[in-house]
Amino acid sequence: MKTLIKSARIIDPSQDIDLIGNILIENGTVSAYLSDTAKTEKERGIKVIDAKGRIVAPGFVDMHVHLREPGFEYKETIKTGCEAAAAGGFTSLVCMPNTNPVNDNASVTEYILLKARTEGIVNVFPVGAVTKGSMGSSLAEIGEMFEAGCVGITDDGLPVMNSKVMRHAMEYVRAFGIPVISHAEDRNLSGNGVMNEGFISNRLGLRGIPNASEEVIVARDITLAELTGAHLHIAHVSTAGSVRLIREAKIRGIRVTCEVTPHHFTLTDQAVLNYDTNAKVNPPIRTGKDIEEIREGLKDGTIDVIATDHAPHSEDEKKVEFDLAPFGISGLETGLSLSLSLVKEGILSLPELIRKLTFNPSRIVRINRGTLKVGAVADVVIFDPEKLITVDRMKFRSKGKNSPFHGWKLNGEVTHTIVGGKIVYSR
Ligand SMILES: [Zn+2]
Repeated sequence: MKTLIKSARIIDPSQDIDLIGNILIENGTVSAYLSDTAKTEKERGIKVIDAKGRIVAPGFVDMHVHLREPGFEYKETIKTGCEAAAAGGFTSLVCMPNTNPVNDNASVTEYILLKARTEGIVNVFPVGAVTKGSMGSSLAEIGEMFEAGCVGITDDGLPVMNSKVMRHAMEYVRAFGIPVISHAEDRNLSGNGVMNEGFISNRLGLRGIPNASEEVIVARDITLAELTGAHLHIAHVSTAGSVRLIREAKIRGIRVTCEVTPHHFTLTDQAVLNYDTNAKVNPPIRTGKDIEEIREGLKDGTIDVIATDHAPHSEDEKKVEFDLAPFGISGLETGLSLSLSLVKEGILSLPELIRKLTFNPSRIVRINRGTLKVGAVADVVIFDPEKLITVDRMKFRSKGKNSPFHGWKLNGEVTHTIVGGKIVYSR
């Protein structure tokens, strides 16, 4: 099977490519860049996509998603999560272990991979738990999970509060060369908080989560990464202070990388003024000052990756009082459009943005994706960066309709998503 994508603007940060050209996909891999397509187009059985005016890039890699299966299939399944990913231009998902049972041993990892192979239309790379049951005390079966295919470890959803346990986890993973992904939150400081601590939380009478709750653990984990030499990846950075700590650690040569979500660089805590539970997320949406520093961090390279932290929930769960609603935003189907705003506003160039959605996350979790080099697996996205869309959460492929961006007018529409040479989404 052959597919020719012609007349596209091809952007591949892994090769520093940004050119107008034609790309040929054959037997599931990128087979050639063609200058003249006339002959190839006439071949029998070839599928030709005229992508004039559109961008062709490596398929996006979302290194922070919650697929909810096993255990919470009413929120999302591997099948529906993959469909949402394909619609959003993501060809690889790195899924968090806070399922039920928790992915803390090889049998759960194997179950997820089997489901992904049989029912998923994009690539799924599981992350294992740091501790058994993500309970924070004894280390999970990390070696076995690595053998089974886990690409990192985290207790995401929860921090590893015990510093000694975190130290041991970091020492342990060095042998496997996988990162420890930190959900940085001091549970004692965040307590029963439900939103950012500040002027708005006071005004609404809601319990707040201070910036310090995140920064205390970011500082601790950087210290432990320095001690152990492990690769630390900080998930969903939300505060200005975290960005400054990570920037400083990088300058000192510590092996730390980090990600930010589209909601954290787009929204401020004003988004919860009407008690919209769809804007209730952990870490909470912060203030304009935090957004400024996050944008600076995206620009200067402190922030390596944009990841959605796709966290689908059912309508019933979110249709409750603000205090009682679960944390999370369904992010796969708005990730690209929200991220393209950074280009529109001059914060990132389009190639810089694509790097943070492809090559950088692939490198952090050491998967062979995020590139359109000849011979690479043909995971490809084609999108129109200008096309004006209106977000309609009820049209999400994801079971999770929990989005605070419903009704927003944004630019950017995915027209094709290709995984291993196969078109898994088109419009
Ligand atoms: Zn988290």
